[in-house]
Amino acid sequence: MRIAANRREVLGGLGLTGLGLATPAFAALPGDADLVVRNARVHTVDDRQPRATAFAVADGRFVAVGDDDAAMAFAGKRTQVIDAKGQAVVPGFIDCHNHAVGEVLLYEVIVGNPFDVEFFTIQSIIDKLQARAATTPPGQWVEGFFFDDTKISDKRALTKADLDRVSTTHPVMVLHRGGHTAYYNSLAFALAGVTDATPNPPGGTFDRDASGKLNGRVTDNATEVIDKAGTRPVLTPAQTQQRGRDGAAYMSKAYARYGLTSVHHQGGDFAALQAIRARGDLLHRVSYESTGPMLDAMIANGIKTGFGDDWIRFGATFEHMVDGSFSERTMAMSVPFPGSNPPYYGNVAQSQEALNAWVEKVHRAGIQVNCHANGDVAIGMALTAYERAQKLYPVADPRFKITHCTLVNDDLVRRIKAVGAIPAPFTSYAYYNSDKFGFYGEDLMQGAMAFRSFLDAGIPVCAGSDFYPGPFAPMMAMQGMVTRTGWDGQTWGANQRITAAQALRVSTLNGAHASFEEAGKGSITTGKLADFVMLSDDPLGVAHDKIKDIKVVRTVTGGRTVYQA
Ligand SMILES: [Zn+2]
Repeated sequence: MRIAANRREVLGGLGLTGLGLATPAFAALPGDADLVVRNARVHTVDDRQPRATAFAVADGRFVAVGDDDAAMAFAGKRTQVIDAKGQAVVPGFIDCHNHAVGEVLLYEVIVGNPFDVEFFTIQSIIDKLQARAATTPPGQWVEGFFFDDTKISDKRALTKADLDRVSTTHPVMVLHRGGHTAYYNSLAFALAGVTDATPNPPGGTFDRDASGKLNGRVTDNATEVIDKAGTRPVLTPAQTQQRGRDGAAYMSKAYARYGLTSVHHQGGDFAALQAIRARGDLLHRVSYESTGPMLDAMIANGIKTGFGDDWIRFGATFEHMVDGSFSERTMAMSVPFPGSNPPYYGNVAQSQEALNAWVEKVHRAGIQVNCHANGDVAIGMALTAYERAQKLYPVADPRFKITHCTLVNDDLVRRIKAVGAIPAPFTSYAYYNSDKFGFYGEDLMQGAMAFRSFLDAGIPVCAGSDFYPGPFAPMMAMQGMVTRTGWDGQTWGANQRITAAQALRVSTLNGAHASFEEAGKGSITTGKLADFVMLSDDPLGVAHDKIKDIKVVRTVTGGRTVYQA
């Protein structure tokens, strides 16, 4: 179709402009639409027109948003018309912090439920690892993933002795889904030369039992000491590439199933993303957050945030670690962990000087800085580095990202606002991890995952599931933000509740803003990318404790249906 082809060329060009992407100004012709959705309860997340009942899509973008008449004016012979029968339609969800570990889900031993609350026995973990050990050469690692210490029906800690039952001839590791702590068997410690007498390295611990013996749990920087020991299977380049593609395609399908149309990837196989895109299997848009050699190469070669197109674009950096974990209770706080003796203040991963230097280098290179900071001490360190970088090299609207930004106070909120930082707090945690908040207590939880404080201060906070640590289901996330009540019925920090409409904005438009893409996506607005989700019920209408039960009926990315129930 000639007109459509012309428009595609125009929009293809616009898609490459990157930062400051303008809403394309064009008028679709009546009869030209690829898709019309009518008879819907549309929550647009566009203040100029918050509600609509219909819209039309052409060449992957919304061309009309309004009532049935306005949208149907664009319907022609070849237009697909969907009668939503009154169902809710919202913009596609945007997850601003996600470790897209498809290869792990497909090829590794999974000892927990990645997607929902489910309890497991320690015996089930041992059984799964024993089965893997049976086909693994001695001396090679046997590893389990997605362990969650508060989702164990035995109601006790996993120990070195448990993992010695898996094998005494393989090093064995079980990684907490939070990613900052792991559990090892005796052989793993022995191969690494770590004994009961080994001192803790900076920024990490070898945990011990009451008698001073290693209990198997290792935190943050100390895990690196053990992971260096033993051997891992060597894959051919072709095998690695194939796993990368399979993993990327698997994750993209999973995101589509849950209504995520844009995801900020924490690194991962970049070539695989391009390969699955070329074969039509990339169903969501990628904001790629790079680290290591790729980040170095970007800096060296002048590649900045925003380079790419509407499907794969370089975003901020990978989360640069300033401290430990919220869920695994190793984050750096100004007060000791309640009940800890001797007093434990969590783990700081690096010095202020090293952090300052890294932030300055990235900021000067025109790349959006992103630091992982959970505890108030770590958030303060990140802000100190951001404030310093802005003083040395001022950039208008820098949108420094603070991944997690979990525990704040009034002064930190003021500094976040002043320096123009964007927090990406945990979303599904309020529901999924309520069984861990007792470790902190109500006083601290009133300042944790502080969506209300951020919004009240005018900070466009976005949503970061942190999958694999947290499930990425947007409906579970929204329910948690709105209720602050967990799966166990416990409510923590109710002062931080936000409305369902605010939670929807945090999970959509604010996510687009966090990657400088709000002009092109994040709301159902004429001219924006046609990314939207049809839902079985209205998240702004149902009882708050029923939001997580809402099903995704259809996910559409760029006008293409990528999931249908
Ligand atoms: Zn993370």
